[in-house]
Amino acid sequence: VGVFFRPLEKIAAVIETYPKGIAGFRRYLALLDTEAEIADAAHARPVTALRGEIAFDRVSFGYDATRPVLQDVSLSIAAGETVAFVGPSGAGKTTLLALLPRFYDPDSGMIRIDGQPLAAMTLESLRSQIGIVSQDVFLFGTSLRDNIAYGRLGASEAEIVAAADKAQLSALIAALPEGLDTLVGERGVMLSGGQKQRVAIARAFLKNPPILILDEATSALDSETEREIQAALEALSVGRTTLVIAHRLGTIRAADRIVVMENGRVQEIGAHAALLRQGGLYARLAG
Ligand code: ATP
Repeated sequence: VGVFFRPLEKIAAVIETYPKGIAGFRRYLALLDTEAEIADAAHARPVTALRGEIAFDRVSFGYDATRPVLQDVSLSIAAGETVAFVGPSGAGKTTLLALLPRFYDPDSGMIRIDGQPLAAMTLESLRSQIGIVSQDVFLFGTSLRDNIAYGRLGASEAEIVAAADKAQLSALIAALPEGLDTLVGERGVMLSGGQKQRVAIARAFLKNPPILILDEATSALDSETEREIQAALEALSVGRTTLVIAHRLGTIRAADRIVVMENGRVQEIGAHAALLRQGGLYARLAG
């Protein structure tokens, strides 16, 4: 499975900027060099406690008019389901998932959550229902506590400690000179890639959204770290609709379904064994 399931770093920039609201969103757009503006529709209403059933209905999208990136994508995902997205680099996996928090709107087609079109929900409330964990985590030059609490401002100390524990950060915190008060980032302790990822996971536990987008790391982690992260992600995904841009065979096999994308289209959907038997694109990528 290696090389074909490459990373999508772009969504990483998203992660850390969008919770800061429209300013962060603008920064994200600036990063991507686009001028798109997504505003709340007049009829938009705040949503809370979505179940997390997702439907892409004949969705097409291009960053510019001349080149379609997603073509006629239809896909229904049950609440609580874990779906792995795989396919060659440039297939459109990141782009498809970026439509869910409305970093872009489709050119045609419709996306619904729990039967409601995305545009019927206020942007802020929609994004409050979606957690994103990526391999590139932005850390503020403040304490580890603040960096975790960023997942949900106003979280109590007990909630922060519990989230850190579920994200497998307890041993690290115990080993740091000042525990949760330790400064991280450029002004303090530099965290490893695996540790940063666990900070992102802790943030997601605090946010507690019904929908998760995971951009699985491709960077090599030592096997113990990898096991810890895998365990934390598995715990995080329980009871949530989880969309994983997947690079690891273990993740792909464990998914309820695998969506195989190529050239902006969904080519195959199914569980690992069935797709292998089918002998199509997935079987070729995995072979
Ligand atoms: P990878 O696994 O390499 O990240 P992917 O399947 O996630 O690939 P996308 O990142 O969605 O694919 O990219 C799909 C296509 O859209 C590619 O041709 C890519 O170059 C293009 N693309 C992605 N982001 C932008 C952007 N912000 N502006 C213009 N084109 C983009």
